[in-house]
Amino acid sequence: MATQPTAVLRGFSSMAARFSVLGVVGAGQMGSGIAQVAATASLDVILSDVDQRALDRGMQTIKASLTKFVTKGTLGQEEAEKIMKRVQTTTTLEDFHSADVVIEAVAENEALKRRIFSELDKIVAKEAILASNTSSISITRIAAATQRPERVIGMHFMNPVPLMKLVEIVRGIATDDAVFEDTKQLAHWLGKTVCCSKDYPGFIVNRVLMPMINEAFYALYEGVASAQDIDLGMKLGTNQPMGPLTLADFIGLDTCLAIMRVLHDGLGDSKYRPCPLLVQYVDAGWLGKKVGKGVYNYSKL
Ligand code: NAD
Repeated sequence: MATQPTAVLRGFSSMAARFSVLGVVGAGQMGSGIAQVAATASLDVILSDVDQRALDRGMQTIKASLTKFVTKGTLGQEEAEKIMKRVQTTTTLEDFHSADVVIEAVAENEALKRRIFSELDKIVAKEAILASNTSSISITRIAAATQRPERVIGMHFMNPVPLMKLVEIVRGIATDDAVFEDTKQLAHWLGKTVCCSKDYPGFIVNRVLMPMINEAFYALYEGVASAQDIDLGMKLGTNQPMGPLTLADFIGLDTCLAIMRVLHDGLGDSKYRPCPLLVQYVDAGWLGKKVGKGVYNYSKL
């Protein structure tokens, strides 16, 4: 791990007694990435999923990502093995009783998240922080499913977590100042840069990004251009690392649709209505790269 600035180290070591065990709920694209960066930052990690196959896939993803760092020479083989050993897996939330902070990263579904927070609230110590990696859902509403709304916060990592620098921190209406400061310190300890948002639908990043992706689907739906030309135009024309339709496949079309629905319902403006083509792809189970098919086909990769 890179050397941490002294001020951050001092700040974190004063929290270290409380923040040595980090729980992650959901071992998908985001949960496995969060587990990896936490273990790389020397925290003991408990990674949970309802699905044992998702846990196995998550651990494989972590291993493959660490192997890339070893191949590039930015991480030693021995350190990579130590990082893997810091991650324990479980299929039950009961195992989170020792966690000092839990980051939830299950599907973008408010009812599911509220149920998980309500369960976690009964399991983890009362001083533990409960964070959600939600892309768009109200932290205030998730927090209201617990008896500790002041200890609930949004910690929105970007995909892929080990490579992307940003964490967007979102305060619910009841979030404590101390919890906000501790969460910022934790994000810094994980090597991330923080931006802070108030609790409005989509926060900063997805309020701006997702309407662009949705508009790219409208352009495809209306036959303005092929998917390849839309992506090429946006990639080279606006200097982005990839086009919006490719990015949507990376994010997951189910997640994109869920975020558009949160924006549409929460902001009440028809400009956020999800594109029918995006809806149809999700209905077909074309969820993007994670299932081998989305706008593009990944089955041969
Ligand atoms: P994913 O579909 O890859 O993974 C979700 C995982 O949650 C699955 O493995 C599923 O089995 C598991 N799960 C479902 N119910 C569960 C439960 N009750 N207990 C434990 N695990 C359960 O999704 P993802 O892309 O990792 O997204 C997860 C969250 O992160 C969403 O809220 C999403 O909006 C957010 N997010 C996603 C991205 C992205 O680019 N994909 C970026 C930032 C934030």
